[in-house]
Amino acid sequence: MKTRVKPCENCGGKIGPDFYIVKLSQALVDPSAVNRYVGMTQYFQGHTALADVFATDKTLEHVMQGEDANQWPEMIICLRCFAGNPILAQLLFDRSGEDDQPSVD
Ligand SMILES: [Zn+2]
Repeated sequence: MKTRVKPCENCGGKIGPDFYIVKLSQALVDPSAVNRYVGMTQYFQGHTALADVFATDKTLEHVMQGEDANQWPEMIICLRCFAGNPILAQLLFDRSGEDDQPSVD
């Protein structure tokens, strides 16, 4: 059986009945892709929807661990550590219910 039930990777303590699986990847802005996108937007007089249609780049960033988040390294974090980290907790709270495709406008 493969399981993620193991000590918290932050504090080393027991994970409770609920815990967090945090996947992380570094991403880098692709300046060339940004320049092409900005140029295309200017060409279409600010209409980003048209620039989106004609853009040749799929994204404006390069995800270092690959586009498949299932392949990203993950950390098992207990509820206490997760809730005690205002950055992680706030990010998760803010993102709930949001579209995961942020606008570049
Ligand atoms: Zn912990």
